[in-house]
Amino acid sequence: MSEDRLTAASLSTPLLEIDIEPFRSREIRFFLKREDLVDSEHSGNKFYKLHHHLLAAGQGGHTRLLSFGGAWSNHIHALAAAGQRLGLQTIGVIRGEIPARLSATLSDARERGMELYFLDRQSYRQKNSPALLDDLRRRFGDFYLIPEGGSGALGALGCQAITRGIVDQCPVPVDYIGVACGTGATLAGIASARMCTNRPVALGFSVLKGAGDLSAQVASLLAELGAGDAPWRLYSDFHCGGYARLPGYLSTFMRNFEAQTSIVLDPVYTVKMIWGLCELVQKGELADAKCIVAVHTGGLQGRRGFDLPYTEQKLHTEHKGR
Ligand SMILES: *Cc1c(COP(=O)(O)O)cnc(C)c1O
Repeated sequence: MSEDRLTAASLSTPLLEIDIEPFRSREIRFFLKREDLVDSEHSGNKFYKLHHHLLAAGQGGHTRLLSFGGAWSNHIHALAAAGQRLGLQTIGVIRGEIPARLSATLSDARERGMELYFLDRQSYRQKNSPALLDDLRRRFGDFYLIPEGGSGALGALGCQAITRGIVDQCPVPVDYIGVACGTGATLAGIASARMCTNRPVALGFSVLKGAGDLSAQVASLLAELGAGDAPWRLYSDFHCGGYARLPGYLSTFMRNFEAQTSIVLDPVYTVKMIWGLCELVQKGELADAKCIVAVHTGGLQGRRGFDLPYTEQKLHTEHKGR
């Protein structure tokens, strides 16, 4: 029932064909799945990742949700919006000291009723320790804990709908689905969807430098989902210097892509995946592909942290201003 709802959500977002190099000259059809448009408030993969967590919280009779994230976290932003919509109390445990001025993300979250609690980086690293969680329970009362990023097996489960939406919408068989990875839960979800037609290979692009155990994490999520046979690969060389780093060549790539397509990318995740796909294809890898789909996982609110325009309209104005 709830899976149907998620699949319907994914079927409601466009699968857009994009005719650009290096795909065009190699006769690879390239599509962008616009999951950034799935919901006005919690856009992108966080919509799918939160779904089963919110259901589980409801089934457990919880009225208070607690989770973790940084100052520009798309997950925190989405969770605050979901809490407000469902009438649930939300607590965001935020990495770092209390800032002099809240980021736009945190300011939105607070406006939506989220209580913010700042933890210095050292304590934040203990976020999975029972001692810290006990401390948080003493402070805030009982809560349903959503892992950082809305991940875990429940987070991954919701992302299976993205594959179903893509395969259903695509006019030709899909060979590869590219997605940016932080925790890898979205990749695990996309890879684990069981299809009756040919099964696309999920390609994950890590945005973290030295994401050493990410592969193991994805494998363990897949095992939890009973999908040890899922087809996937993880690329770790396209982080472009590390999390939230946007070097000049990447920023140029992003600007060119946006100028050619009028689609706004997010500089932390999606741009690195699309850049990675272009690099691979250019180098002659994925040579067997006839159709590649890249997932736009949203996260555009985070562009405010880069001082970049974050809507198509604003992008338009900026390009004109150049
Ligand atoms: C959180 C996020 C990701 C990473 O998702 P994981 O499931 O943690 O791998 C990718 N893209 C965007 C835009 C995100 O906000």
